[in-house]
Amino acid sequence: MRDLSNDHALLSLNTATVRKQWRLDRIIDECARRGIHAISPWRDQVADVGLETVARLLRTTGVGLSGYCRGGFYPAANTAGLTAALEDNRRAVDEARALDAPCLVLVVGSLPGALQGVPAYTDIARARGEVRDGIAATLEYARTVGMPLAIEPLHPMQAAERACINTLEQALDLCDELDPERSGMLGVAVDVYHVWWDPKLHAQIRRAGAKRLLAYHVCDWLAPTRDLLNDRGMMGDGVIELKTIRREMESAGYAGLCEVEIFSEDWWSRPGEEVLDTCIQRHRSVV
Ligand code: ZN
Repeated sequence: MRDLSNDHALLSLNTATVRKQWRLDRIIDECARRGIHAISPWRDQVADVGLETVARLLRTTGVGLSGYCRGGFYPAANTAGLTAALEDNRRAVDEARALDAPCLVLVVGSLPGALQGVPAYTDIARARGEVRDGIAATLEYARTVGMPLAIEPLHPMQAAERACINTLEQALDLCDELDPERSGMLGVAVDVYHVWWDPKLHAQIRRAGAKRLLAYHVCDWLAPTRDLLNDRGMMGDGVIELKTIRREMESAGYAGLCEVEIFSEDWWSRPGEEVLDTCIQRHRSVV
């Protein structure tokens, strides 16, 4: 297993981690200042600063991407909605390309409207079918521009609102269906927060192998957890056996970065400098 204790060359920052403290241009600057050489930005943060400006800032600071957040949210109540989702995903692929991302992360969506509290339907099997067709269509386009897609399975507590793909096994089944040749263009983003509890986790990481393991997201699971979305823990503050999971990832062939992704009202309420410095320390000691 790679030794992270001496430096943080393998640390990437998912920029949602400090989204309430700073705009993206400041985040890039603060990362570069600390020797954090990679980020994974969100589309709204990029749009807020401007795609061209962000691309230029990345070039001038030498900060790269570990992924781009995010595409997905395919299911819709009607044909117009399905088409709009495909068009939006195409734009996401183009933005990922413009920023030279190694992959576009997909949070696939589930019951349309559930996030707003008004689900248009309750048939999760239908949602899964729409997700399958949506990923197939986006993959067809992504192949033409060489942008890999990383399906991120979400914890089942998000199955109504955000993703009807909830385990690594389910994500890999879909990868095998849509990309049986294991081309490297379709894989998974393994986020410890979503998958740490899964009894099949290690077997599925091994099944995925280097070709399918496109991203690795770290944080921690707090016990007890007070909020389904925004109570993620800093690495080392919860119950996830981070080194065990990373060992599995690396022995399966993963050679990419460890992306810190923490949605937390607690950490959002602290100075951004403190958050980044703590990420660096914990990356070296517990990731
Ligand atoms: Zn994630």
